[in-house]
Amino acid sequence: MIRLLRFPLWHLLVLGWLALPRHSAAQDRRRAASPRPAPATRCDYHLRWDGKSSRLGVQLDYTAVSADSTVFVFAPEHLGGQADIFQVLENLRPGPTDRLRVVPAQQKIVVLHTRAGRHTLHYVLNGAIAGPRQKSTPRELFRPVIMPGSLYLTSAFFLLQPQDCPPAASSLQFDQFPAGVGYFLSAAPRATPGSRQLLQPGRQQFWTMVLGTDIVRREYRVHNIPYYSLTSRRDTVNRMSQELAPFFTRFFPTLRTFWHDDQDAYYYLCVLPTYNTEPTAGGFGWGPGFIMKYSGPFDNWAKLIVAHETSHSWIGSQLTLGENSFANQWFGEGFNDYVCLINLAASGIFDSQTFLEYLNNRTLRPHYTSAIRSAPNDSIAPNYWRNTAYQRLPYRRGLLYAFYLDNQVRLASHNQYTLRDVLLALRTRARALQAKDPNANLSVDDFIETAGRFMPREQVAHDVAVHMLQGQPLDFHHFPLIPAFRVTFDGEVPVLGLTGTTPLSAIYSW
Ligand SMILES: [Zn+2]
Repeated sequence: MIRLLRFPLWHLLVLGWLALPRHSAAQDRRRAASPRPAPATRCDYHLRWDGKSSRLGVQLDYTAVSADSTVFVFAPEHLGGQADIFQVLENLRPGPTDRLRVVPAQQKIVVLHTRAGRHTLHYVLNGAIAGPRQKSTPRELFRPVIMPGSLYLTSAFFLLQPQDCPPAASSLQFDQFPAGVGYFLSAAPRATPGSRQLLQPGRQQFWTMVLGTDIVRREYRVHNIPYYSLTSRRDTVNRMSQELAPFFTRFFPTLRTFWHDDQDAYYYLCVLPTYNTEPTAGGFGWGPGFIMKYSGPFDNWAKLIVAHETSHSWIGSQLTLGENSFANQWFGEGFNDYVCLINLAASGIFDSQTFLEYLNNRTLRPHYTSAIRSAPNDSIAPNYWRNTAYQRLPYRRGLLYAFYLDNQVRLASHNQYTLRDVLLALRTRARALQAKDPNANLSVDDFIETAGRFMPREQVAHDVAVHMLQGQPLDFHHFPLIPAFRVTFDGEVPVLGLTGTTPLSAIYSW
């Protein structure tokens, strides 16, 4: 069973805010540093699905380490708000000489047996969409969805593993599956459903599987790294496979150039229409990929979700400021949002009008008219679930500070440096810290010291203390911007525009 030791980020999604865990590089580092389980243990999963039913049959052959019992826990507690996730498990059946004790309140299954060694446990996953279809997006993201011709699973709500001794290796294999299906298993991207797929511990435990007659699978190369696009023909509004293509051909290459990073094994985007009919979009980062479910047109703001979440492979994953990602969301969310926005502009997915619309109508105006715009940073966590205004506050505050800082670094260095240089230096610092301690995160002082190499350090220290930690909004009357930008005011609200001296694609190029 996956142990999610902490929930590194709480992700916020349009049209409904879903709480969800994100797999992080820090988790990988911790896992790599933890002792390996005994090598002889293994779990082998045999799957059966007829392509029509909402039920997936699983036969788990596992190694019992203790003679008398083996304990399994199903699904991380309340993952994505699914307090009743245990109900998807049906027909639990142990081997002929074993007995079961099931504790639904703890999502726990105890198999009582009389010897160690190999045992079998059968179970069924019911992937019917429970309850009314309206507003079912969390259910469609955080539970198995098994509908005629289409199956969606992640390891979070599939795997049963012995708790006392997680397997050293696992395998997964379909003994029955419908003909003519598209297939993708993120842990083994090249595998076909008929082959036996070996799953290594660690990162591969965070896998996603789609299988169905509706699945459209495309493969790209980004800086020579395999990238996979998984979409569905069920969408009759968008040709999603084509809609996503510019991400693979333009956005991801631009983003990897920005971060100067060609170091991943692979990445996937799994973007599937909901069975829910209300306009919606939501998703979560999972292993080396991002899963999104949506309905309605794939507009600029849905594109922004894809860009924002996939950008978290760096800020929020490789770069975290403070003890946890909740401490300084102005950086983890706001700076990530800025990096995502300027890469959307640099890759031509956002034109200058959309870029300014996001800054003005979706950031500056709601921020400068918000009743809580001056709330201090440490008031965000306690109010986060009580008042939705607090959920957007760090995004907007951080994005505006990142924009400001980018301008100040450019001005102070006579255009020799930009915020990108600050972030690359910060990553170098993070890597040095993590070389000594895999759990180390950057501190606010690391941020100040690093940015202070590119503009006056005292200014950075002041700005972080006053504008990010105390929460006082930046006063756009009192600082210059690069000549390409101008600012006017609508009452108290700053309004950004382009002067036309430099095109957006030239401001944001690397
Ligand atoms: Zn985010």
